Formats: sequence, structure tokens, C-alpha cells
Amino acid sequence: MDRRVQLLLGKFLSGEIKVLSPTLDREAGYRYTSVEPLLDSPEEAQGFLDNLQAHGFLETETCGVLISCGNCGSCNVEHVAPKGGNSGSSETDELPLLGDSGWRCKSCKATFGEHELKAHLVPCYSFSEKSIADVSDWLVIKPLRDFLHERGYRTESPGFLIGESEVRHQFDIVAYSGGEDEGTLVMDAVVSVDPISEDDVKSLFAKVFDTNPLKSVIVAFPELTDDAHKLAEQYRIGVVETTEVKDIWVKLREVVPPVDEVRFEPLDVMTLLSLPDHLRKTATVTGSLGRATADEISERTERARAVESGYLNQLVRMGYLKKERDGRRVLFSVIS
Ligand SMILES: [Zn+2]
Repeated sequence: MDRRVQLLLGKFLSGEIKVLSPTLDREAGYRYTSVEPLLDSPEEAQGFLDNLQAHGFLETETCGVLISCGNCGSCNVEHVAPKGGNSGSSETDELPLLGDSGWRCKSCKATFGEHELKAHLVPCYSFSEKSIADVSDWLVIKPLRDFLHERGYRTESPGFLIGESEVRHQFDIVAYSGGEDEGTLVMDAVVSVDPISEDDVKSLFAKVFDTNPLKSVIVAFPELTDDAHKLAEQYRIGVVETTEVKDIWVKLREVVPPVDEVRFEPLDVMTLLSLPDHLRKTATVTGSLGRATADEISERTERARAVESGYLNQLVRMGYLKKERDGRRVLFSVIS
């Protein structure tokens, strides 16, 4: 039920990661960079992976030996060549082979022989097909991505979108239509024993409000509470509830449109007329300006910028206006 576990196992199952290998890092020794985006801090990576290994999801093998200073523990050690030889490989990322001559720590400046180096076995991780088969009924990311691919989307998991605030938001999956005016669909999955409260809906909405994808969906195992349902409806967030992963495709089909239907729609006269007065004014002015910022539009409509910005974003969410970033400026235009 841990979202981080769902995301990591999803990466393994979809083939995005085959073997999780460490990368050398002068400061930390080694890091698992592809796990770090899932965690609050890079330091948590080792504990997180150990825990998954203890539960049998990951298998490990030694894929390297990291040497460090016996005095201060720094990995920033260099091989000091014998007299007259070259002066070591201090600036390369490749650690020199153990030899007979001396070693020097570039952090604490100590010098010492090979036997005083600390050696640490560095593990690689791969996933255990057997244990994952045992819990496959609980793993959601892979089937969700499979579904989206079948619907014609390209996906990233976890996916990131930059909001109007310039804050970078993470979603369990971001799906792209890949068309010219690329539309996006975002999806968060929540697994729980109890019905899922409105907090998860609020958290998704906060991200959606800032990033304006064309469609947002929350996938709930097993279900949302009544309040969470009402909120999702109010926020126009699609809801998929299921107790069985194998039933999920049928339910997703009702909520997730095929890729060629998730797109911006031209604002025709009939649609324009059907809009409430305040939004029609915003849409008409935007149309007459071509591409314009919220400031320029609010000057014409003579409404406060914050109010106008709210209307503009509402029209973007409804799929009638396009929003593009040009450096620090955010430009709105009518889809044509
Ligand atoms: Zn040292």
C-alpha cells in the first residue's frame, strides 16, 4: 500500500528498470539515482531498498567494491603512484585498482597502505519474479500504464509537470497524447484497506489546479468515501474504483478517453454562446487579442488580474483555451 513501492515495482514490471545499479558519487559514496525521485531524501534510498529486499521483492548481488579512507571514511581517496610514475588518477571517476603503493585521502590528507583502506561491497538490485507474482493483485501502476498505452498514450511514472506557480508537481502517472498541441492526462493511484478520504482528492486537485492537464483521474483501491466522491465530482476529477486489479480495464474505459479524444477543442459560436457571461467575456477578449497574458486580458475586461486568471484557467480546464509558457510569461490563446 506504500505508493513508493507501487511506483518502483511498476518501473521494474514495465521493464523501465532491469537491474537497479548504483552510480558513483564522491560525496555519498554511491547512490541509486532512479529511486531517489520516489523518496523524500536521497539518504532514504538504501533503507528503502533493504526493506524491499527483506520482504523478498528485491534480490541483490554485489556489483562493485567501494573503497574509502580508513581514517575519515571519505571515498575521495587516490592511489599515489610509486616514485617517478604518473601522479594518480585524481580527477577521473574511475577508482584506481588496488596496488602495492600508497594511498592518500583527499579529504583528511592522511596517507596509508592498501590494508588500511575500508572496502564496502556495493549491491545491485533486481526484482524477484516469484514474490511479485504473489502480490500482483495489489500492484496497480503496471496495469494502469498498460491500459494507457493500449489507449494510445505515452506515459511516464512517476511523471512531473511544472505548474503556473513554477512548482514541479509529481503524479503517479503522466500520460501524453503526443500530438501537435500535446495534451496531458494525469493519474494518481491510492491503495488502502479503508475507503479513501477526501484528502487524496484534495492533494490531486491542488496539483491539477496549478498544472492544468486536460484530464485528471484518481484510481482508488478499494473505493472513495462519499465526501471524497462529491469533491472529485466538483473538481471534475475522474474516479475509478475497484477491488480487483483485473477488473480495472473495464472501469478505466468509462473514464479515460482514447488518446485522439483528449485534446483541445475549437471554440465554436455555439459553445461560446453556451458559456456563462463572465467566461464568455474572457473568451471573446482572448480571441480578439490572439495570444495574450492574464495581465493584458484583465486590462481589456477591466477585472482584477486574479479574477481574470481564475476564469482563464477555468476555460483551459474546460479545453477551450490553450495555455503556453514563453520564458516567464504565460500566454493564453483560443484553440482554432
Ligand atoms: Zn580521510
